[in-house]
Amino acid sequence: MLLGCIADDFTGATDLANTLSRHGMRTVQTIGVPKGVAPEADAIVVALKSRTIAADEAVAQSVEACRWLKANGAWQIYFKYCSTFDSTDRGNIGPVADALLDELGAQFTIACPAFPESGRTIYKGHLFVGNALLSDSSMRHHPLTPMLDSNLVNVLARQTPQKVGLVDHRVVKRGAAAIAETFTKLRSAGVRYAIVDAVEDVDLMHMGEACAGLPLITGGSGAAIGLPKNFRKTGLLPVREGVSPLRSVDGGGVVLSGSCSTATLTQVERMKAKFPARAIEPAALVSNFESTVAELVDWAGAALKNSPALIYASAPPEKVTETQTLFGRDQAGAMIEKAIAAIAQKLVERGVRRIVVAGGETSGAVVSALGIEALEIGSQIAPGVPATLSFGEPRIALALKSGNFGGPEFFLEALAALK
Ligand code: ADP
Repeated sequence: MLLGCIADDFTGATDLANTLSRHGMRTVQTIGVPKGVAPEADAIVVALKSRTIAADEAVAQSVEACRWLKANGAWQIYFKYCSTFDSTDRGNIGPVADALLDELGAQFTIACPAFPESGRTIYKGHLFVGNALLSDSSMRHHPLTPMLDSNLVNVLARQTPQKVGLVDHRVVKRGAAAIAETFTKLRSAGVRYAIVDAVEDVDLMHMGEACAGLPLITGGSGAAIGLPKNFRKTGLLPVREGVSPLRSVDGGGVVLSGSCSTATLTQVERMKAKFPARAIEPAALVSNFESTVAELVDWAGAALKNSPALIYASAPPEKVTETQTLFGRDQAGAMIEKAIAAIAQKLVERGVRRIVVAGGETSGAVVSALGIEALEIGSQIAPGVPATLSFGEPRIALALKSGNFGGPEFFLEALAALK
C-alpha cells in the first residue's frame, strides 16, 4: 500500500476511491477499520462516519485507522473531508488533523478542499461553491454543519490551537517548487497548516507534487489528483492503462432508492418509465414491517426474472414532510433504511448480485446489512460514483451514490456498468 486514506463519511470515501482509481491507483475502500490483513492495493480508503460525531470520538476512530494503515505499510496518510469543508468550531477537521500530525510525528500539512471539477475552488483562502462564496451557498443552511464563514484560514484556526497560514494563488500558479519553498517559510514561522489556493486542476497537480514528502495530507477528493504521479516518479507505482475491469457477476440487477434528492427523483421517474417499479409505503411499514418487506421481495424476485426492477421510497418534499410529521423525522428515516437494507439482504439470498443504491445513509445501511467489509473500486459510472465489487462471498457488484450525484439516466447507466 502506498497511500492510506481516512475518510470522514461513507460516500465521501467512495468519491476519493474513485478519484485515486481514475488516476492510476488500484484502490480498495474498507467499511470501518478492518480487523484482518490489508487487501492487495495501491491505496486503501477507510470509510468512517466521523464527520458530525463528538470530536474526541472522531479523533479516536481516525487515529485507530491511521495506526492500521501505517501497520499495513502506508507511505503517506490522507485525511479526506467534504469539499465544502463541513465542520463546526468544535471540529472535526481541526482536532482530527492535530491528532494525525501528532500520531505521525509530523510538523506540517496542508488543508485543501478544492475540487474544481465540481465547482469548489479556493482563492485567497476563500472557498467558493460555483460562483458563490461558501457562506452564500446552500451550505449556510446545512442542518448539522452550517458554513457561515468562507475564509478557510479563519475557519480552521477556530478548530485548532495551531497556527494556520495560506499559500496563495500567485505562488501556486508558479508551480511545485514555489509552493514547496513557501511551505518551508511557513514552517519556520511556526505554521502547522497551510490552506492552499486552487482554482483549476493544474493547481492541484502542482500542489500534489509539492506534497510528495509530507507524512500527512488533508483535503477533499480533488486534492488527491496530484499524488499518484509522485509514486510513479519514484518507481513505486507502475503505469496502469485505465482502471482494471472488476470480475463479472451473474444474477439480476435491482435498484433500491432511499434518496429524496432532486436528482434521484428524476432518476426514479426515468427508470419507472422503462422497467417494473414499486414504491415503499412508509405507513405500510409502520403497520406491518415484516409482511410489507416480504411482499416487496416476492414482487422483485418475480420481476427480476425478466428485467431489472426498482424499489423506491424516494418521494417529493411535501410527501416526505407528511411522512415525517406522522412518524417523526429520524424514526421514518431509520425505518425506511432498515426496510431497504432488509430487502437487499433477502434479494441477495435469492441470488441477486447487482445492486444500485441511491442515498448516502441508505447505502451505509445496505452495505452493513450485507456484512460487506471492503469494496474493490472499478470504473467511474458518473462523477464521484464508481462501479464497485464486494470482497468475500458472494461477490456483489454495487453502485452506491449519494443524493445529488448522477444524471437523469444514472440508474440505467449503473445497471449497464455492473456486469
Ligand atoms: P441522500 O444521499 O439523498 O441524502 P440518504 O439515504 O442519505 O440520501 O438520506 C435520505 C433519508 O431519507 C434516509 O434516511 C431515508 O430513509 C429517508 N427517506 C427516504 N424516503 C423517505 C420518505 N418517503 N419519507 C421520509 N423519509 C424518507
